[in-house]
Amino acid sequence: MAKSVTNAVKEAIGILGGTFDPIHFGHLRSALDVLQQLDLQHIRLIPSARPPHRQQPLASPEQRLMMLHLAVKNNQQLVVDDRELARQGASYTVDTLLSLRQQFVDNPLYLLLGTDAFLHIQTWHRWTELLALAHIVVMQRPGEPLVMSEQLARWYQQHMGDNNDHSQVAGKIWPVVVTQLDISATAIREMVSQGKSPQFLLPDAVIQLIEQTDGYQNNG
Ligand code: ATP
Repeated sequence: MAKSVTNAVKEAIGILGGTFDPIHFGHLRSALDVLQQLDLQHIRLIPSARPPHRQQPLASPEQRLMMLHLAVKNNQQLVVDDRELARQGASYTVDTLLSLRQQFVDNPLYLLLGTDAFLHIQTWHRWTELLALAHIVVMQRPGEPLVMSEQLARWYQQHMGDNNDHSQVAGKIWPVVVTQLDISATAIREMVSQGKSPQFLLPDAVIQLIEQTDGYQNNG
């Protein structure tokens, strides 16, 4: 008997890396927007241990991980992934994608980046290898127009995805407009250190943990 051959595209997976110091509704709502617009099966939230391009987080890796778990506990499509915390040295995205590609060999992978992150992508370690491993989703963020260098604009245009064709597992760039939430972790840390409530900017359970641990009282 002839075997039936299916070429069905496997479930698509999103990847959102960040310091999440702390996680807030800007991250969570944007992730959900992308999940729904690109029909992803789930999104993995990956806290970075030692981000190479910025000031180190104030909260410990364990605290940031705990805040993430509390933030996503009511949504099964947002999954916390601690693989960067387990690794030594700087947290390079290319290494994270290599590790995810080993685990999800044939799944389309979508790396979610805010515009601020995308505009600096050419400074990232081995950035030219990223598209071989995953697609890139550019989340258009409030107040941050996509003003690209000539070289980045050329790369962006060359790899622009076609909305009618989601058959590839990597290699395309997809701009996605997300809900405009002008929330940043920096502003939340400042509020907490000044004794102001950050309520309605991030989940209550995360705020409770920050209060219990006196997090961000001493905002570096
Ligand atoms: P900080 O203020 O400490 O720099 P942040 O709020 O920008 O932190 P990160 O953890 O650095 O948060 O962000 C992780 C990713 O989420 C980045 O790609 C960033 O562009 C994106 N992001 C952060 N805030 C928002 C937001 N309000 N809307 C959409 N994307 C966001």
